[in-house]
Amino acid sequence: KTFAYAPAPESRAVVDIAPSYGLFIDGEFAEAADGKVFKTVSPSSEEVLSEVAQAGAEDVDRAVKAARKAFTSWSALPGAERGKYLFRIARIIQERSREFAVLESLDNGKPIRETRDVDLPLVAAHFFYYAGWADKLRYAGYGPDPKPLGVAGQIIPWNFPLLMLAWKIAPALAAGNTVVLKPAETTPLSALFFADVVRQAGLPKGVVNIITGDGSTGAALVEHPGINKVAFTGSTEVGKAIARSVAGTTKKITLELGGKAANIVFDDAPIDQAVEGIVNGIFFNQGHVCCAGSRLLVQESVAEEVLSSLKRRMETLRVGDPLDKNTDIGAINSAEQLARITTLAEAGEAEGAERWAPSCELPSAGYWFRPTLFTNVTQAHRIAREEIFGPVLSVLTFRTPAEAVEKANNTQYGLSAGIWTEKGSRILSVANQLRAGVVWANTFNKFDPTSPFGGYKESGFGREGGRHGLEAYLDVR
Ligand code: NAD
Repeated sequence: KTFAYAPAPESRAVVDIAPSYGLFIDGEFAEAADGKVFKTVSPSSEEVLSEVAQAGAEDVDRAVKAARKAFTSWSALPGAERGKYLFRIARIIQERSREFAVLESLDNGKPIRETRDVDLPLVAAHFFYYAGWADKLRYAGYGPDPKPLGVAGQIIPWNFPLLMLAWKIAPALAAGNTVVLKPAETTPLSALFFADVVRQAGLPKGVVNIITGDGSTGAALVEHPGINKVAFTGSTEVGKAIARSVAGTTKKITLELGGKAANIVFDDAPIDQAVEGIVNGIFFNQGHVCCAGSRLLVQESVAEEVLSSLKRRMETLRVGDPLDKNTDIGAINSAEQLARITTLAEAGEAEGAERWAPSCELPSAGYWFRPTLFTNVTQAHRIAREEIFGPVLSVLTFRTPAEAVEKANNTQYGLSAGIWTEKGSRILSVANQLRAGVVWANTFNKFDPTSPFGGYKESGFGREGGRHGLEAYLDVR
C-alpha cells in the first residue's frame, strides 16, 4: 500500500550508539574478564548496532560483590533519600525519552509510536511511583519496619526492555535492595544507556549493576550464592529451570512467565470498540506481549460481524520501519522468534485452521510477519494452546457465558483476559470466574504502576507493580 502523506521517519540521529559497550559494574564500564563480546542487531534492517560484552561467571561474581558492598550503605539510607535518587532517575528518563524511544525501536524493532507513547512514559511513571514509596515502607503491609532482602538478581526479556528494567529496578531500590540486572541478549542497549542515567543521577557505586550476556550469564547470576532474590520475567520453560536451580537454597523468587489470554467478546459488546481492543490486544508490540489477547473468543451470534469488521481493520495496519511514526506493526525481534512464529502458524494450517492475512508488502531486509488471523480453530490446536508471541490471533466461538469461561480457562496459563460487554453484572460475574491475574473490561493492554501485575498457574507467581510489587523486595519485621 502507498500513502499520500508520509511524514519523515523519526531520525536516528538523536541517539549516539557507540561501537562497543562494556559491563556496568560498581559504577564503571568494563570489558568481560575473558574479553568475550556479542553483536546486537537491529531487527528491522539486520544492521549491527554495537558489540556488547558477554559476562561470564567471573564478571557475575564481581557484579554481585559490588552490589553486596553497596547494600550496607544503601539500605541504611533514610527512605526519603533513596526516593530522591529515584525521582532524579525518573526526571532524567523524561528528559532523555526521545533518545531512549529511538534506541529501543532500533534495538527491539517496535514502532516509535509505541516506544514514545507507551514504553517511555510508563518507565518514568514506574520510577516516580516507587520513588514515592521509598519513605512509606511501613505502609506496605509488611510490618512497621520491613527490611530489604539484600542483593536482587534480575533477569528480563526482550519485548519491553527498558520497561521490564523499570518494573524490576524501581521497587527493588525503593525498598533498599541493590541489584544486578541482566537484559536479554537481543536487546541489551537500553539497559546500558540506563547505566548512564544511573551515573547521571549520582547513585552510589554498585547499587545498580548491569551485566549483558545470554542464558548462561543468567544461569550464573541465579546460581551465585551472594544473591538473596531472583526476579525473572521470560518464558515458562526458563522460569521452571530457574525454580529448579534455586530449589536447594533459601533465595526468594518471583516469576513472570508466558500467557495465552482470552479476549472475550459478548453479543452485546460495542463492536467497533471491541474490534479496536482486539487489534490492540494482539498486534500491539507485534504480539510480543506476555498478556497479549492471543485467543479471541467471540459469541457465535456476532462472530461474522466481528470478523468482517476485524479483517477490514487489519487491512489498514501498516507494517514496516519502526522509526516511521505511521507504522503500526514493527519488526519481529529476531530471526529465531520469526522462525518460532512461522512454525506455529504452519502448524495451525496443518491442523486444519483457516489462515488469513491482509496482503501488504514487507521490507526486504529485517524480520517481518504479517498480522494474521486463524479461524476454524479448535481447543486442541497448537495455535490455541501454545504461546506464539507474535502477531497471530486464534479465533474460537462460544454460545453461552459459561462456555466462554470454560474455554477461556482451558489453558495452562493464567496471566490476563479481556471481557467486552455492555452489562456491568456480566463483567463482574465473568471476571470472578476467570483464572487470570489481570482482567480488563472493555479495554485491553492497559498498564499502570499502581496496579499489581502477574500470573496464575504456569504464568508464574509473585506480583510486580503497586504495593504488591514492593512486597516482593521486603521482609516482614
Ligand atoms: P527467555 O526465557 O528465553 O529469556 C528471558 C531471559 O532469560 C533472557 O534475558 C535470557 O537471556 C535469560 N535466560 C535464558 N536462559 C536462562 C537460564 N537458564 N537461566 C537464567 N536466565 C536465562 O524468554 P524470552 O524469549 O526472552 O521472552 C519471551 C517470554 O517472556 C515469553 O514467554 C513471554 O510471555 C514472557 N514474558 C512474560 C512477562 C510477564 O510479565 N509475565 C513479560 C514479558 C515477557
